[in-house]
Amino acid sequence: MNKRKIYFGAGPAALPPSVLEETARAVLDYAGSGISLLSIAHRDKAFGDIISEASALVLQLANLGSDDYEVLWLQGGGRQQFAMVPMNFLDEGGRAGYIDSGHWAHEAMEAARYYGDVVSLASSAADKYTHLPAWPDGMPGDLQYVHLTSNNTIYGTQWPRIPPCPVPLVVDMSSDIFSRARNYSHCALFYAVAQKNLGPAGVTLVVVRKDMLKRSTRRLPDALSYAAQAKASSMLNTPPVAPIYTCLLMLRWIAERGIADIEEENRTKAAMLYAEIERNSLFQSPVAESSRSLMNVVFTMVDASREQAFLGYSAARDIEGIKGHRSVGGFRASLYNAVRLEDVTALVKAMQDFEKEL
Ligand code: PMP
Repeated sequence: MNKRKIYFGAGPAALPPSVLEETARAVLDYAGSGISLLSIAHRDKAFGDIISEASALVLQLANLGSDDYEVLWLQGGGRQQFAMVPMNFLDEGGRAGYIDSGHWAHEAMEAARYYGDVVSLASSAADKYTHLPAWPDGMPGDLQYVHLTSNNTIYGTQWPRIPPCPVPLVVDMSSDIFSRARNYSHCALFYAVAQKNLGPAGVTLVVVRKDMLKRSTRRLPDALSYAAQAKASSMLNTPPVAPIYTCLLMLRWIAERGIADIEEENRTKAAMLYAEIERNSLFQSPVAESSRSLMNVVFTMVDASREQAFLGYSAARDIEGIKGHRSVGGFRASLYNAVRLEDVTALVKAMQDFEKEL
């Protein structure tokens, strides 16, 4: 392999070298079986062991019990969850509440409108999502669920905690799952696309409280029903065997380090970068300080005409993946779990040297 680049992409995202190397070995020969990971049958014991260990690690990291929660490994990405949540939990004529805190939160809300009545409980859209909206004071009692996006990947804002909620809380944790301590027991369901903090694209983790599986009144095809997927142990159709295996390696890596240590390092990484954005005369943050994400650090240049030059300058130092989302512009450095402290140091140094050389 050529020299490994420092990668801050928002997803698919960087994975630890040890996880990549073990995946590569398994692609050639899974655990000395003489069969590639890409070819092992999903009904074989080998895969049964992979998916059960991965599911057990998810519950262990979330501090939840298998009596209360079901772990599902599904396909269709975040977008499919935007649809499956209302299909399964929003009855014809029922109402659901959404916290409109960013692009993906908004997309999730719009998808629910196909199935029932939707209420925006709080929104920061009018301020271009540069801060989190205030958590609603009260909630209408008739809501079938409330949907929250814990980290807004594009706008770089993050909810510091998952609050207790009087109605079932559904949380999209795609861009910050297992990156800090969270009270997962406040969730009736949480989901996360794998391609940020968990593994490669192609699989989506869903953890659902078992009592929720009985709520669905809509007639649904099995593939789109959480209850049917749970009954089939996520093997209704052929699951994405290789991505699930890489998720298992990533979950082992997270469990070995421990969420507390991971959180501490994530806080250090983010603090370093935000401090440099504040200090450096060339850069600025459009995000309100109290809403800033530890995962996706969004920043711009005071003189936007210099942004292309800084992209080139950092690329010459093997720093890639910092271009901001096309809807926001500027830069975004995603500091997911696999991004190391020294990667952030290299980016900060590039910002400092760029300022000096100008
Ligand atoms: N939710 C969040 C928070 C996201 O960041 C993204 C994508 N980056 C999605 C959902 C959509 O995921 P997908 O591309 O898998 O549909």
